[in-house]
Amino acid sequence: MTSPITQLPGPAEAANRPVPILSHWIGGRTVEVQPEGTGPVHNPATGEVIARVPRGGAAEVDAAVAAARRAFPAWRDMSLLARSQIFFAYRELVYSHREQLAALITRDHGKTFDDALGEVMRGLETVEFACGLPLHLAGLNTPNVSTRVDVHTLRQPLGVAAGITPFNFPVMVPMWIYPIALACGNTFVWKPSSHTPGATQLQTELWKEAGLPDGVFNVVYGGREAVSAILEHPGVDAIQFVGSTAVGRYVYETGVKNGKRVGAYTGAKNAMVVLPDADMELAADAAVASGYGSAGERCMAQTLIIAIGDAADRLLPVMKERIGKLKIGPGMEPDVDMGPIYSAEHRASLIEWIGKGVAEGAELVHDGRPLHVAEHPDGYFLGVTLFDNVTPEMEIYRQEIFGPVLGIVRAATYDEALSMINGHQYGNGTAIFTTDGGAARRFELEVDVPMIGINVPIPVPAGYLSFGGTRGSAFGDLKMRGEDGIRFFTQQKIVTVRWPEPGRREALSLAFPGNR
Ligand code: NAD
Repeated sequence: MTSPITQLPGPAEAANRPVPILSHWIGGRTVEVQPEGTGPVHNPATGEVIARVPRGGAAEVDAAVAAARRAFPAWRDMSLLARSQIFFAYRELVYSHREQLAALITRDHGKTFDDALGEVMRGLETVEFACGLPLHLAGLNTPNVSTRVDVHTLRQPLGVAAGITPFNFPVMVPMWIYPIALACGNTFVWKPSSHTPGATQLQTELWKEAGLPDGVFNVVYGGREAVSAILEHPGVDAIQFVGSTAVGRYVYETGVKNGKRVGAYTGAKNAMVVLPDADMELAADAAVASGYGSAGERCMAQTLIIAIGDAADRLLPVMKERIGKLKIGPGMEPDVDMGPIYSAEHRASLIEWIGKGVAEGAELVHDGRPLHVAEHPDGYFLGVTLFDNVTPEMEIYRQEIFGPVLGIVRAATYDEALSMINGHQYGNGTAIFTTDGGAARRFELEVDVPMIGINVPIPVPAGYLSFGGTRGSAFGDLKMRGEDGIRFFTQQKIVTVRWPEPGRREALSLAFPGNR
């Protein structure tokens, strides 16, 4: 089974074939979709319509949840080794299809092929973590917590879990959610972004090929209607959401109100601090790579550079030199550093943001707006933008822009920089650039942001560790993946055991039993 959307035809072939229409995936099969109930998917490098995706709603969500419910008892009860064999098979399939997945990401999202391949490999880390599920699900066993009384703990699945994911990491972010949900014995309904369906479809096909039983993994495309149906469906037990803060807050509040366990991992405005003693070549590379990689469409991009003392004056010329050499074009071209913006609407909003920065009084050092990629006049290309003298009062400092727009903020002291980061409405990732171990140690202890880089600009923890932010960057008590992920997708039971022994019955007592 291969859908036309997962194939990458040459331009001549593509021109001659009908635009493929994607389908939901429910109970191990596709669902018939009428063209009038679909929306277009564009290739952001060319502006062409490459596919149409269905707009699912309550009926499709209901069918997917029913399929997941039916599949749940057998999946929950499958031996852990048999379950982990399916994960090993899926791991092998993702690895052997990594380039196809990466090319699909590049086609639908626009990021460069190398960047997309990195995304696939970072997602795979969490699949690999999930392969060890028999150990992750192990409980504790404590004999003799009281006289002849033992205690053991179990971790059991919740039932049907849902994942609602964004456009910017169509493989890595879902792979931070569904492997853990499934490894814990839940069945799954995925509501992916409609902007990037190629990699979604291929992941679905690979699960089928790996031997996942029908109904364990279901996909429903759609927007607000599908999401609301998930939030309100009594058959959904747990939801992890990744996306913007406004939608994440709604998902969290509505899901919790409806009695579900919800984790929402949301928007960001990350800042890296550059101390005057930093290696400025390293710091400039880090700022440019982190801020403009994937066209700034990463929740871990450092989009504010807080430079202390004279650091900005020494960093700026190096950054300008790096920026001058960046090549912007279609992500499949081998020497391209940055691809297009993912949609025409988002490109228009970024242009507005740059205008707003100028109006607010930030100094425009490099303007991305005039860029024109002659061979692809209909692509959604935008150059990189750098502002200097950004201040905390400005909207371009306060809000997530989610594009290739960087701002340098000048601070007099380390303490001033720290209070800026700790006082920001977002707290996802941060970094410090310094050669002073003592300063780095202080930062690690004092900064109120959970994911920290020391001379590392994109501090995404390895795939077997947890991931998540604070303040406006996350809602819920547990992070994604790793140990928190296992906790999120399971219920712990604690069993207290006493077996009768002949001749050792205690006398009846109504007192609360002390553990003696
Ligand atoms: P988005 O919030 O627009 O969409 C996320 C998901 O919600 C998609 O599946 C989408 O279809 C759905 N959705 C969109 N609008 C909705 C609405 N009104 N009601 C219900 N559902 C809706 O986010 P996006 O533009 O796809 O992704 C970019 C955002 O995701 C950025 O804010 C970025 O910081 C964030 N992000 C966060 C993390 C993280 O781990 N914290 C990781 C990646 C991306």
